[in-house]
Amino acid sequence: METEHTYRVEVFVESCPSWLNRYDPISKLGKYGVYYTVTGSYKLCAEVRRACEARRVRCRMFDMCWERSDDYRQKFLNQFPPTKTEFRCAYCGKYLTRKTLVVDHLVPVNQVKKSQKARKLLLRDGITNVNDLRNLVASCETCNKIKSDQLGSWYTRGKLGRDEFMQGIYTVFSVAVFVGAVIGAVALLAYLF
Ligand SMILES: [Zn+2]
Repeated sequence: METEHTYRVEVFVESCPSWLNRYDPISKLGKYGVYYTVTGSYKLCAEVRRACEARRVRCRMFDMCWERSDDYRQKFLNQFPPTKTEFRCAYCGKYLTRKTLVVDHLVPVNQVKKSQKARKLLLRDGITNVNDLRNLVASCETCNKIKSDQLGSWYTRGKLGRDEFMQGIYTVFSVAVFVGAVIGAVALLAYLF
């Protein structure tokens, strides 16, 4: 028999109403303020979702495989030997250490929770858990902040950028662009004066 999946409903209310209280919700603090979560069987979560819909309370329900785990950072680092101390940001190529790197979800957790499209992007690569190593990349703090919950070109850049070979090509390319710009500038100056 297939084991039953665990689900979660996030209920976006600032304070817990009595009808929600009977499900033992857990309060969480997110980017946009306080919300409540109920975790359990599909049946239980679907019941909470229906209760929300009846009251026109915003909520979202998803399989727990799409929720951020507590240990994804550690799992990401564990895949490398302890001697590896130098990492690169998958988005901008900046050099990072174990301490300075941020482990980023290539397809953002927030997108995966709310959008079928984002889940499909993972499923297409055979990924059925948002914390799968194939969905984790090293990022610098700046890129991580700017990227936030975006997909689009960030997804492509991150996917290419985590590849060491591609990082090499990026470096050669940016050096070539820089050298080209310098030669161009010198040639322009020589022409003008
Ligand atoms: Zn970066």
